[in-house]
Amino acid sequence: MLDAVIIAIGSELLTPSKTDTNSLYLTDQLNTLGVEVRKKVIVGDDRGMLSAEIREALEQVAIVILTGGLGPTEDDVTRDAVAAALERPLIWRQDICDGIEERFRTRGRAMAEINKRQAYIIEGATVLANPTGTAPGLWIESGHNLIVLLPGPPSEMKPTFEREVLPRLQARVPEVVIRTRFYRVTGMTESDLDTLISPAYKDYTNPATTVLASAGDIQVHLRARCETADEAERLLAAVGDPIEKLLGDRIYSNNGDALEDVIGRLLRPRQETVAVAESLTGGQLGQRLTSVAGASDYFLGGLLTYSDRVKTALLGVDPEVLKRYTAVSAEVAEQMAIGARDRTGATYGISTTGEAGPVSATGAPVGTIYLGYATPAATGAIRLVMPGDRNRVRGFTVNAALDLLRRHILRLE
Ligand code: AMP
Ligand code: MG
Repeated sequence: MLDAVIIAIGSELLTPSKTDTNSLYLTDQLNTLGVEVRKKVIVGDDRGMLSAEIREALEQVAIVILTGGLGPTEDDVTRDAVAAALERPLIWRQDICDGIEERFRTRGRAMAEINKRQAYIIEGATVLANPTGTAPGLWIESGHNLIVLLPGPPSEMKPTFEREVLPRLQARVPEVVIRTRFYRVTGMTESDLDTLISPAYKDYTNPATTVLASAGDIQVHLRARCETADEAERLLAAVGDPIEKLLGDRIYSNNGDALEDVIGRLLRPRQETVAVAESLTGGQLGQRLTSVAGASDYFLGGLLTYSDRVKTALLGVDPEVLKRYTAVSAEVAEQMAIGARDRTGATYGISTTGEAGPVSATGAPVGTIYLGYATPAATGAIRLVMPGDRNRVRGFTVNAALDLLRRHILRLE
């Protein structure tokens, strides 16, 4: 398989205020072609550092792609650095100079003298037309290496890549078939998940397995690259099937759907409905449920009850229970869920209460969460503990509440 290094050039990319987005785009494009990106580097506008980086990359991989530093000013050093690394001279190209001059003329301006620097190319390079700017890209073959220079501004880099680089790469790279699987998992931590499933994937580099986690929501991606679709599917099954078995019903979707989409798909055909009572999550649970188009088919409403008095007034939570156990308790969570269910006539009531921090109002440790449920079969509450800051606790709680609802709809234990 062909491999590549991407070098992003520009001192601004080493400041806190500018992100190298070009290499994300290029990585996606290269992966789709079946080219593996082995390394990404960011180098400032420094000729010496850059040519050293280029020399190293040429030894390591077949394809080196550079973006940025093709501008007309002194600090744009990419052409010089590549010429030095390849030990090739720069050559004046009158036709490029004429093209740049013409571009300025059509905009009613005169070309600045410094723009002439952009008319030098590396000996032996193919010029890649830049449809949206003055600096052309360059395509250079050297021994077993391919070096591509692209302009830095994304609005110039992308069209140059799509029109000039992509067709040339496609002709050069052997065709590959890519097949993916994508599991979304909840109800466990990232480290527990990885401990559980790593035996199933660790001996395989193809498919490549990546695990992405945010609080209470984990994504497992498998990506197989093969010469044939059959081979790709076979490899995906070899890794994916055992992972599915290990994770079981903790996988809530295998097509990218979010929890709230899954819940909609479960409730609609059953003609069942849900209502929520939120304290800790301040409306985020209702927000997630209603982010799905058509949620009105199954979402009846939510009660955002933050104070004890409002929990009693709107949900019928017993003031004695509030006093005895505090608002952060299984007893109150259960009564909130019952209130949400019974006062709206929903099939399911789900509630959230807890301590998001940074200080505890009830004495329960920060990160203590109770989720209440009221279903046609049962009522109750579960207790969870989530370390972390306020945002994290609340985000985790929303995912956990959605999963609790999913489990009750599916009658999972
Ligand atoms: P240059 O080709 O170095 O003159 O780049 C011109 C402008 O393009 C810079 O000021 C940045 O705003 C933008 N740019 C350059 N490289 C990147 C990159 N890797 N990702 C995103 N923007 C970039
Ligand atoms: Mg620059």
